[in-house]
Amino acid sequence: MTVFDPHTIHPFLPNNLGFGGLDRDDHARGDDSIFSQLAQQKTTRYLPVWRSMNLFAPQATENAPPHLCWLDPTQIAAFAEYNPIFIYLGRDRDNHAYIALDISACDEAKAARLTPGHFADLREASPLIDGDEGSILAYARALCFWHQRHGFCGVCGHQTILARAGHMRVCANPDCNAQHFPRTDAAMIVRVTYGDKILLGRQAIWPEGMMSTLAGFVEPGETLEHAVAREVYEEAGIIVKNVRYQHSQPWPFPASLMLGFSAEAVSDRLQINHHEIEHADWFTKADIQQFDEKGMFLPRKLSISRRLIEEWLNR
Ligand SMILES: [Zn+2]
Repeated sequence: MTVFDPHTIHPFLPNNLGFGGLDRDDHARGDDSIFSQLAQQKTTRYLPVWRSMNLFAPQATENAPPHLCWLDPTQIAAFAEYNPIFIYLGRDRDNHAYIALDISACDEAKAARLTPGHFADLREASPLIDGDEGSILAYARALCFWHQRHGFCGVCGHQTILARAGHMRVCANPDCNAQHFPRTDAAMIVRVTYGDKILLGRQAIWPEGMMSTLAGFVEPGETLEHAVAREVYEEAGIIVKNVRYQHSQPWPFPASLMLGFSAEAVSDRLQINHHEIEHADWFTKADIQQFDEKGMFLPRKLSISRRLIEEWLNR
């Protein structure tokens, strides 16, 4: 069987969490016996997710890159009493099947006792995480989050049941039968420049000193370019032109796809909307080099915002 290889898609290095990692093997999702078949295969890898945290393997040394941790079919029986949610994720290049296993009903001590390694927030993972592994963990986390919050039908309020190997939920009310599919919220993030300066801002809830590119959710009925221009205008009073798509990043915290853009400001006169952001300003490359001394810093290296800023810094 040919395995679809997502590694050939991107013209340049994908962002962290965006490598693809798996052939998502859609045709197998319609096979109702997929989970029992895969449970018979010793090579099947189960990825536990506990309350939106992924399982990481024990680290050999403190600075070693993090790795995902999987369980084999013999290790998952212990979770049966907690009615875990199973989601078939697909196959890797070596044809290992991956299944996400949401064990959120388990208490913390039991989850820790039944799994090797440790549960942690993927956002906090080191940017050294392997590209494929990071994207598989992001995929598992996103789907587990969706299942946790869609146990009831948004049309009639009845319970929903898992279908298509975890890629759909169907309303159990025979008079309704509404089908529900996982959602991804489109969010844009933009590097705005004016001459030799970049626009960086911060929200009040962020760690003190952190400065980043502007971002916001795309609204219904809006193009991505419109969302970029609207958000920059709403937050900083800046009109932009030449809005250009750069690259994207799955950001399942909890359910976003970050779409990275660049844009040029028509003027540098800022009019900050303090209801939206705490502060924003223009910075030259020399200003950013002095961030350390001023107690300021850029977003984490795992993020698309950091990459958008570094691409500009390295020009
Ligand atoms: Zn319903």
